[in-house]
Amino acid sequence: MNIQTDLSLDLVVDAPQLVTLPVAESDARFPVHRIYCVGRNYAAHAVEMGHDPEKEPPFFFQKAPDTILQPGENFPYPAQSENVHYEMEHVIAIGKGGSDIAVADALDHVYGYGVGLDMTRRDLQGVAKKMGRPWEVGKSFEHSAPMSAIHPVAKIGHPAEGAVTLKVNGALKQDGDLNQLIWKSEEVISYLSGLFTLQPGDLIMTGTPAGVGAVVRGDVMEGAVAGIDAIAVTVV
Ligand code: MN
Repeated sequence: MNIQTDLSLDLVVDAPQLVTLPVAESDARFPVHRIYCVGRNYAAHAVEMGHDPEKEPPFFFQKAPDTILQPGENFPYPAQSENVHYEMEHVIAIGKGGSDIAVADALDHVYGYGVGLDMTRRDLQGVAKKMGRPWEVGKSFEHSAPMSAIHPVAKIGHPAEGAVTLKVNGALKQDGDLNQLIWKSEEVISYLSGLFTLQPGDLIMTGTPAGVGAVVRGDVMEGAVAGIDAIAVTVV
């Protein structure tokens, strides 16, 4: 049952807010269901994190939908961390759900694309990794998913190459390209749909290129994926 649309229910606490993102050049909004994130999807980033860059099956974690930071908003430095990292990423917005989606059909399930930051409490993630614990405390904290607007496939097609860049205070820190993705968009969608039933409104953050690093209050992060969009986020 969808409690967002059934206003006759006698709810004992306030209902969760529907999370949405703007659709570019439109007054329409994209409703967000889940946020899936791919780990280690660029070889150079896998190496910098101390892992083998060989193509192993993709792995996933999730951020809660309400961790999204809207375009133009500032990023509040989170609690309980002294090592908060940026990870600039290409984002797939699912328009049509499904399970066990074939690679050849996968792009038909895409509504559009955006760009986003997978902000990470690296110190807490490191402790979790070391102890074999889940990653939520490192990955799914408040405001940890700054996002751009969503750009419909009808406008921009399916970008398969284009620079993925992140500057901090004007200095270039990350400089990858979509064509360096180990698992391409259609492969990620296909693989993920074998593990979860994809739904309209799902977002998939496809991983980050090398060059991740820490930010402090006052820093300005400018991220872009050429052919899709750019975001500028100030750490406060
Ligand atoms: Mn990431």
